[in-house]
Amino acid sequence: MCGIVGVVSSRNVRGILIEGLKRLEYRGYDSAGISLVNEGGIHVEKKQGKVKALEDALLINPIEGHLGIAHTRWATHGQPSERNAHPHISEDIALVHNGIIENFESLKKELQASGYQFTSETDSEVIVHLIASFRKQGLSLLNSVQEACKKIKGAYALVVISKTEEDTMICARHGSPLVLGLGFGENYVGSDVLALQSVTNRFVYLEEGDVACIETNSFSIFDVQQNEVSRTVSEYTF
Ligand code: GLU
Repeated sequence: MCGIVGVVSSRNVRGILIEGLKRLEYRGYDSAGISLVNEGGIHVEKKQGKVKALEDALLINPIEGHLGIAHTRWATHGQPSERNAHPHISEDIALVHNGIIENFESLKKELQASGYQFTSETDSEVIVHLIASFRKQGLSLLNSVQEACKKIKGAYALVVISKTEEDTMICARHGSPLVLGLGFGENYVGSDVLALQSVTNRFVYLEEGDVACIETNSFSIFDVQQNEVSRTVSEYTF
Protein backbone atom coordinates (compact mmCIF):
# COMPACT_ATOMS: atom_id res chain seq x y z
CA MET A 1 0.00 0.00 0.00
CA CYS A 2 1.62 3.20 -1.06
CA GLY A 3 0.97 6.90 -1.70
CA ILE A 4 -1.83 9.07 -3.08
CA VAL A 5 -2.10 12.83 -3.64
CA GLY A 6 -4.91 14.75 -5.35
CA VAL A 7 -5.65 18.46 -5.89
CA VAL A 8 -8.58 20.45 -7.30
CA SER A 9 -7.82 24.12 -7.88
CA SER A 10 -8.01 26.92 -10.41
CA ARG A 11 -4.21 27.03 -10.85
CA ASN A 12 -1.78 24.48 -12.26
CA VAL A 13 -1.39 21.74 -9.62
CA ARG A 14 1.49 19.69 -11.07
CA GLY A 15 4.03 21.09 -8.58
CA ILE A 16 1.82 20.34 -5.55
CA LEU A 17 1.33 16.75 -6.73
CA ILE A 18 5.06 16.10 -7.28
CA GLU A 19 5.93 17.71 -3.94
CA GLY A 20 3.31 15.49 -2.27
CA LEU A 21 4.76 12.35 -3.86
CA LYS A 22 8.26 13.33 -2.68
CA ARG A 23 6.97 13.69 0.87
CA LEU A 24 5.58 10.13 0.65
CA GLU A 25 8.82 8.60 -0.68
CA TYR A 26 9.82 7.40 2.81
CA ARG A 27 7.20 4.64 2.42
CA GLY A 28 9.06 2.83 -0.39
CA TYR A 29 7.52 2.24 -3.84
CA ASP A 30 8.39 0.87 -7.27
CA SER A 31 6.82 3.36 -9.71
CA ALA A 32 5.11 6.74 -9.85
CA GLY A 33 2.49 8.40 -12.01
CA ILE A 34 0.41 11.52 -12.45
CA SER A 35 -2.77 12.50 -14.30
CA LEU A 36 -3.81 16.09 -15.00
CA VAL A 37 -7.00 17.49 -16.50
CA ASN A 38 -7.00 20.64 -18.65
CA GLU A 39 -9.07 22.04 -21.53
CA GLY A 40 -7.34 19.59 -23.86
CA GLY A 41 -8.47 16.53 -21.91
CA ILE A 42 -6.93 14.09 -19.46
CA HIS A 43 -3.15 13.54 -19.58
CA VAL A 44 -1.04 10.83 -17.96
CA GLU A 45 2.68 10.36 -17.32
CA LYS A 46 4.09 7.31 -15.51
CA LYS A 47 7.58 6.01 -14.77
CA GLN A 48 8.99 2.90 -13.18
CA GLY A 49 11.45 3.85 -10.44
CA LYS A 50 11.77 7.09 -8.55
CA VAL A 51 9.58 10.21 -8.42
CA LYS A 52 12.65 12.01 -9.83
CA ALA A 53 12.26 9.97 -13.05
CA LEU A 54 8.63 11.15 -13.28
CA GLU A 55 9.67 14.73 -12.53
CA ASP A 56 12.33 14.57 -15.30
CA ALA A 57 9.78 13.17 -17.77
CA LEU A 58 7.48 16.10 -16.91
CA LEU A 59 10.27 18.56 -17.76
CA ILE A 60 10.29 17.12 -21.29
CA ASN A 61 6.48 16.83 -21.43
CA PRO A 62 5.32 19.69 -19.15
CA ILE A 63 1.62 18.86 -18.85
CA GLU A 64 -0.45 21.25 -16.78
CA GLY A 65 -3.90 21.07 -15.22
CA HIS A 66 -6.04 22.51 -12.45
CA LEU A 67 -7.27 19.07 -11.42
CA GLY A 68 -4.89 16.18 -10.83
CA ILE A 69 -4.03 12.96 -9.05
CA ALA A 70 -0.69 11.27 -8.42
CA HIS A 71 0.45 7.91 -7.02
CA THR A 72 3.42 5.93 -5.85
CA ARG A 73 2.84 2.19 -6.28
CA TRP A 74 3.92 -0.78 -4.24
CA ALA A 75 3.01 -3.63 -6.58
CA THR A 76 0.72 -6.33 -5.24
CA HIS A 77 -0.78 -7.60 -8.54
CA GLY A 78 1.44 -7.44 -11.61
CA GLN A 79 5.12 -6.65 -11.73
CA PRO A 80 6.59 -3.20 -11.11
CA SER A 81 6.44 -1.57 -14.56
CA GLU A 82 5.31 1.59 -16.31
CA ARG A 83 2.29 -0.26 -17.72
CA ASN A 84 1.14 -1.33 -14.24
CA ALA A 85 1.83 2.06 -12.61
CA HIS A 86 -1.16 4.20 -11.66
CA PRO A 87 -3.18 6.25 -12.67
CA HIS A 88 -5.28 3.81 -14.70
CA ILE A 89 -7.61 5.16 -17.37
CA SER A 90 -11.00 4.12 -18.72
CA GLU A 91 -12.62 6.39 -21.28
CA ASP A 92 -12.58 9.88 -19.68
CA ILE A 93 -11.77 8.71 -16.13
CA ALA A 94 -8.44 8.39 -14.28
CA LEU A 95 -8.00 6.50 -11.01
CA VAL A 96 -5.33 5.93 -8.38
CA HIS A 97 -5.74 3.14 -5.84
CA ASN A 98 -3.96 1.94 -2.73
CA GLY A 99 -4.79 -1.52 -1.45
CA ILE A 100 -5.96 -4.85 -2.84
CA ILE A 101 -9.19 -5.77 -4.65
CA GLU A 102 -9.91 -9.37 -3.66
CA ASN A 103 -12.66 -10.10 -6.22
CA PHE A 104 -10.87 -8.49 -9.18
CA GLU A 105 -10.72 -11.70 -11.23
CA SER A 106 -14.50 -12.19 -11.42
CA LEU A 107 -15.08 -8.46 -12.02
CA LYS A 108 -12.44 -8.47 -14.76
CA LYS A 109 -14.19 -11.35 -16.55
CA GLU A 110 -17.54 -9.53 -16.39
CA LEU A 111 -16.02 -6.28 -17.66
CA GLN A 112 -14.10 -8.02 -20.46
CA ALA A 113 -17.33 -9.76 -21.50
CA SER A 114 -18.96 -6.35 -21.87
CA GLY A 115 -16.07 -5.09 -24.01
CA TYR A 116 -13.63 -3.39 -21.62
CA GLN A 117 -10.01 -3.92 -22.59
CA PHE A 118 -7.39 -4.15 -19.87
CA THR A 119 -3.96 -2.66 -20.40
CA SER A 120 -2.36 -3.62 -17.06
CA GLU A 121 -2.01 -6.71 -14.87
CA THR A 122 -3.25 -4.88 -11.77
CA ASP A 123 -6.29 -5.55 -9.62
CA SER A 124 -6.85 -1.75 -9.56
CA GLU A 125 -7.77 -1.45 -13.23
CA VAL A 126 -11.12 -3.21 -12.64
CA ILE A 127 -12.23 -0.27 -10.47
CA VAL A 128 -11.80 2.36 -13.19
CA HIS A 129 -13.62 0.27 -15.82
CA LEU A 130 -16.40 -0.45 -13.33
CA ILE A 131 -16.81 3.29 -12.66
CA ALA A 132 -16.78 3.97 -16.43
CA SER A 133 -19.52 1.34 -16.90
CA PHE A 134 -21.76 3.14 -14.38
CA ARG A 135 -20.99 6.51 -16.01
CA LYS A 136 -22.17 5.01 -19.29
CA GLN A 137 -25.54 4.29 -17.66
CA GLY A 138 -25.88 8.05 -17.01
CA LEU A 139 -24.81 8.20 -13.36
CA SER A 140 -22.75 11.13 -12.03
CA LEU A 141 -19.11 10.50 -11.16
CA LEU A 142 -20.03 10.48 -7.45
CA ASN A 143 -22.84 7.94 -7.91
CA SER A 144 -20.68 5.81 -10.21
CA VAL A 145 -17.97 5.58 -7.54
CA GLN A 146 -20.61 4.76 -4.89
CA GLU A 147 -22.00 1.96 -7.09
CA ALA A 148 -18.52 0.62 -7.85
CA CYS A 149 -17.71 0.55 -4.12
CA LYS A 150 -20.72 -1.74 -3.57
CA LYS A 151 -19.21 -4.29 -5.98
CA ILE A 152 -15.53 -4.30 -5.02
CA LYS A 153 -14.30 -6.34 -2.06
CA GLY A 154 -11.02 -5.75 -0.29
CA ALA A 155 -9.03 -2.77 0.91
CA TYR A 156 -8.95 0.51 -0.89
CA ALA A 157 -8.22 4.18 -0.80
CA LEU A 158 -9.04 5.57 -4.22
CA VAL A 159 -9.28 8.91 -5.98
CA VAL A 160 -10.99 9.46 -9.32
CA ILE A 161 -11.10 12.40 -11.74
CA SER A 162 -12.82 12.84 -15.08
CA LYS A 163 -12.48 15.34 -17.88
CA THR A 164 -16.29 15.65 -18.02
CA GLU A 165 -16.53 16.84 -14.37
CA GLU A 166 -13.56 19.18 -14.44
CA ASP A 167 -13.93 20.72 -10.99
CA THR A 168 -14.49 17.57 -8.98
CA MET A 169 -12.44 14.83 -7.35
CA ILE A 170 -14.21 11.80 -5.92
CA CYS A 171 -12.47 9.66 -3.31
CA ALA A 172 -13.38 6.63 -1.24
CA ARG A 173 -11.88 4.85 1.71
CA HIS A 174 -12.28 1.29 2.96
CA GLY A 175 -9.44 -0.35 4.84
CA SER A 176 -6.75 2.09 3.63
CA PRO A 177 -6.29 5.61 5.03
CA LEU A 178 -7.31 8.78 3.19
CA VAL A 179 -7.45 12.36 4.44
CA LEU A 180 -8.90 15.51 2.90
CA GLY A 181 -6.83 18.70 3.09
CA LEU A 182 -8.62 22.06 3.13
CA GLY A 183 -7.11 25.05 1.38
CA PHE A 184 -8.22 28.49 0.21
CA GLY A 185 -9.69 28.27 -3.27
CA GLU A 186 -8.36 24.73 -3.60
CA ASN A 187 -8.72 21.43 -1.79
CA TYR A 188 -6.63 18.29 -1.52
CA VAL A 189 -6.64 14.60 -0.71
CA GLY A 190 -3.78 12.42 0.46
CA SER A 191 -3.05 8.98 1.85
CA ASP A 192 -1.13 10.70 4.65
CA VAL A 193 -1.14 14.26 6.05
CA LEU A 194 2.58 14.48 5.28
CA ALA A 195 1.77 14.54 1.56
CA LEU A 196 -0.12 17.83 2.06
CA GLN A 197 2.05 19.44 4.73
CA SER A 198 3.43 22.09 2.35
CA VAL A 199 -0.05 23.35 1.36
CA THR A 200 -2.35 23.08 4.40
CA ASN A 201 -2.61 22.29 8.10
CA ARG A 202 -6.39 21.65 8.10
CA PHE A 203 -7.47 18.05 7.58
CA VAL A 204 -10.59 15.89 7.60
CA TYR A 205 -10.03 12.16 8.06
CA LEU A 206 -12.40 9.94 6.13
CA GLU A 207 -13.99 7.08 8.06
CA GLU A 208 -14.50 3.51 6.89
CA GLY A 209 -16.89 3.36 3.94
CA ASP A 210 -16.88 7.13 3.32
CA VAL A 211 -17.05 8.54 -0.19
CA ALA A 212 -16.20 12.24 -0.63
CA CYS A 213 -16.79 14.75 -3.37
CA ILE A 214 -14.12 17.48 -3.34
CA GLU A 215 -14.41 20.77 -5.24
CA THR A 216 -12.29 23.92 -5.20
CA ASN A 217 -14.32 25.71 -2.50
CA SER A 218 -16.31 22.94 -0.86
CA PHE A 219 -16.49 19.25 -0.07
CA SER A 220 -19.17 16.77 0.94
CA ILE A 221 -18.83 13.36 2.57
CA PHE A 222 -21.27 10.44 2.33
CA ASP A 223 -21.28 7.39 4.57
CA VAL A 224 -21.80 3.81 3.46
CA GLN A 225 -25.61 4.31 3.44
CA GLN A 226 -25.01 7.29 1.10
CA ASN A 227 -26.21 9.79 3.70
CA GLU A 228 -24.33 13.07 3.81
CA VAL A 229 -22.32 13.24 7.04
CA SER A 230 -20.07 15.78 8.72
CA ARG A 231 -16.59 14.84 9.91
CA THR A 232 -14.33 16.77 12.26
CA VAL A 233 -11.82 19.28 10.89
CA SER A 234 -8.44 18.87 12.63
CA GLU A 235 -5.96 21.73 12.66
CA TYR A 236 -2.30 20.74 13.03
CA THR A 237 0.79 22.69 14.01
CA PHE A 238 3.68 21.12 12.10
N1 GLU B 1 -2.91 -3.41 -5.77
C1 GLU B 1 -2.54 -2.28 -6.54
C2 GLU B 1 -1.47 -2.62 -7.55
O1 GLU B 1 -0.83 -3.62 -7.47
C3 GLU B 1 -2.18 -1.06 -5.69
C4 GLU B 1 -0.86 -1.21 -4.96
C5 GLU B 1 -0.58 -0.04 -3.99
O2 GLU B 1 -1.26 0.04 -2.96
O3 GLU B 1 0.35 0.74 -4.28
O4 GLU B 1 -1.25 -1.88 -8.47
